[in-house]
Amino acid sequence: MKKLAILGSTGSIGVSTLEVVAAYPARFSVVTLTGGGNLALLVEQIRRFSPQMVAVCEEADARRLRDTLGGNAPKILFGVEGLSACASHPDVEMVVSAIVGAAGLRPTMAAIVAGKNIALANKETLVTAGSLFMEAVSAAGVDLFPVDSEHSAIFQSLRGHRQQDVRRLILTASGGPFLHRPSDDFHSVRPLDALAHPNWTMGRKISIDSATMMNKGLEVIEAHWLFALPAERIAVHVHPQSVVHSMVEYVDGSVIAQLGIPDMKTPIAYALSWPERLALDLSPLDLCQYEALTFHAPDGEKFPCLPLAYTALAMGGTAPAVMNAANEVAVEAFLAERISFPDIAQIIAVVLNGHVARPLDTLETVFAADKMGRKAASDLIDQRAAEALC
Ligand code: NAD
Ligand code: MG
Repeated sequence: MKKLAILGSTGSIGVSTLEVVAAYPARFSVVTLTGGGNLALLVEQIRRFSPQMVAVCEEADARRLRDTLGGNAPKILFGVEGLSACASHPDVEMVVSAIVGAAGLRPTMAAIVAGKNIALANKETLVTAGSLFMEAVSAAGVDLFPVDSEHSAIFQSLRGHRQQDVRRLILTASGGPFLHRPSDDFHSVRPLDALAHPNWTMGRKISIDSATMMNKGLEVIEAHWLFALPAERIAVHVHPQSVVHSMVEYVDGSVIAQLGIPDMKTPIAYALSWPERLALDLSPLDLCQYEALTFHAPDGEKFPCLPLAYTALAMGGTAPAVMNAANEVAVEAFLAERISFPDIAQIIAVVLNGHVARPLDTLETVFAADKMGRKAASDLIDQRAAEALC
């Protein structure tokens, strides 16, 4: 029986993880859950999976949860301490890190330090704190399994091969909902258009990241840290059918890929059960249904967030954390209809260009960089709003 903590259980990845858990009740038990926002769903999950401990972001939500559950309530905590307590609970063996954004960093690091194996969906933790994160994983001697479908595909395509035989990684990208929309029409994009991903159903933030292609930029940085390869050996191919989830090219010219239907339960289950594969009730991939599987190079002019992520990685140190923070703020502002779709990339570019990267010595440096990036992006957004009023 593998004992799990699920951080971000009410999100898209959290819900899919609990579907896998529910299909294998003899294999997995849920020790802790954390969720924010959707309390009704959290209550339902608590009743169904009977965790020992739960954490929410706000104290008021913790109170509401206790009132709703009454005498049957598990231990309910709140805030970052509560999230970290759930991540490092003594009974937990593996933590599914599925909070969205840099908010996942502290609890995920708490889990690593407490010796928990990690199934990592929360790519922003690796983007913001890559070197510190990987050092902590190695110091604690814990196993780290990627949940992101591209990184799971690479992880699977690396099995049975030697690291020194790898020439490069090829991450595939769907291209998002605006692959065929002309960029001079991007100013008219509304949040609902951007949230409508053609192949995957995901949380709001990652859906916008997919539309700008920042998601692929974050994934290049994630791959750099997970697989210890420099940026010039991590390529991106746009593959609109989302069937080939990513590939590894070897020095002899062989390319090994992992294919499947676009459903996150496959990489989640693999991370939970490695090296075994769990039978899942999903429609099989029927390649004969596809007229063609196509690949082409990404257009960095149309989607400037992708080259911006390569720039941040080249700058190193605090730069990816600053870029990530600016992106989180800009995505929220776009969703709130305070800025336009092209403004997202413009704001990140201004913030990143104005940043002088510092080495990442401690987690506090990451948090300071995150704060700096957020402030710079918010100031720019406020300034634009003020100018628009004049
Ligand atoms: P989501 O928005 O659907 O869910 C996010 C979860 O985090 C929710 O439970 C929410 O309550 C919680 N949360 C949000 N802000 C929080 C905060 N400040 N403190 C604590 N908890 C907070 O997001 P998602 O789509 O499930 O994505 C989660 C992570 O997984 C992201 O990092 C995303 O990039 C990554 N990921 C998602 C997918 C996907 O298909 N959804 C695929 C690959 C990677
Ligand atoms: Mg992905």
